[in-house]
Amino acid sequence: MRRRITAGNWKMYKTPQDTARFFDRFKLLLDGKQGCEVVIFPAAIDIPAAVHAAAGTAIHIGGQNLYWAKEGAYTGETSAAMLNAAGATWVLVGHSERRHQVAHETDADVLKKAQAAVAVGLTPIICVGERLEEHKAGKAHEVLVRQFAGGVAGLTEEQFAQIVIAYEPVWAIGTGHTATPQIASDAHKLIRSEAEKRFGEEAAKRLRILYGGSVKPDNIQGLMNEPEIDGTLVGGASLDPESFAKIVEAAWKSQGPK
Ligand code: PEP
Repeated sequence: MRRRITAGNWKMYKTPQDTARFFDRFKLLLDGKQGCEVVIFPAAIDIPAAVHAAAGTAIHIGGQNLYWAKEGAYTGETSAAMLNAAGATWVLVGHSERRHQVAHETDADVLKKAQAAVAVGLTPIICVGERLEEHKAGKAHEVLVRQFAGGVAGLTEEQFAQIVIAYEPVWAIGTGHTATPQIASDAHKLIRSEAEKRFGEEAAKRLRILYGGSVKPDNIQGLMNEPEIDGTLVGGASLDPESFAKIVEAAWKSQGPK
C-alpha cells in the first residue's frame, strides 16, 4: 500500500512568528487525526521554528531547496547536511518556480540535488510538469518523459526507492486552474510507466506520485478519488491552517488499498 502524503509548500511566506502561530492552530485542528503523512516546507529561515513547533507530532518538516555541494563558497545556498542538522527530513527539488523563474534549474541540476538529498537521508519530492504553451501544444507527456530522463533516471535503484515525485503542471500553479483528476491521473500513469521501464515493476508500484496545482478544500475529493494520485503538494491553501487541515483530512479519509 502506498501511504498518502499531503505536503504544504509555503514558498516565500511567513516569518518564524507566523510559523509558530500556524502550528498552534494546525495542531489543534489535526488533533491526532493524522492518517496520512503530512509534510510542511517553510522558508529556510523558518525551519527551526517549524521543527520546534512540530516536535512530538508526526508532521515532517522539509526545505524548499538545497545545493548539491557538501560545503563551500556558494553564497545564499544551503546544503543537504545543513537542512538535516536543522531538523528537516524532506526537501523539494526542481519546483517549477525554481526551474522557470528564480534559478533556471535544469534537469541535470535536479538530479544532482536529489542525489545529494538522498545521500544524507532526506526524502526529496522531485517536481515535474509542463508549461502552459507545452500543455496547449499537446506536449505535456513529451516534457514529462524528458524531465524524468534527465532528473530521475540517473538515480540508482537504491536512491530511487527514497524519492517521491510531484506532478505539477505549471499552468495550474497559483492560477486557480486545477488539472482535472483525469489529466492528473493520465500524467501520473505516464510517470509510473517511465519508472517501470527504468527501475522495474515493483519499484514503480511503490513510487508515490503527488499532484500539485491549485489544490483547495473544494477540489481535493475529486483528486483523491483517483487511485493513481497518492497525495497532493499544496501551495496557497497550505498557508491557512483551516484549509490545509481540511485537505489533510480528505486525504486520510480516502486512503484505500493501493
Ligand atoms: C506549489 O507551490 O507547489 C503549488 C502547487 O501552489 P498552488 O497550490 O498555490 O497552486
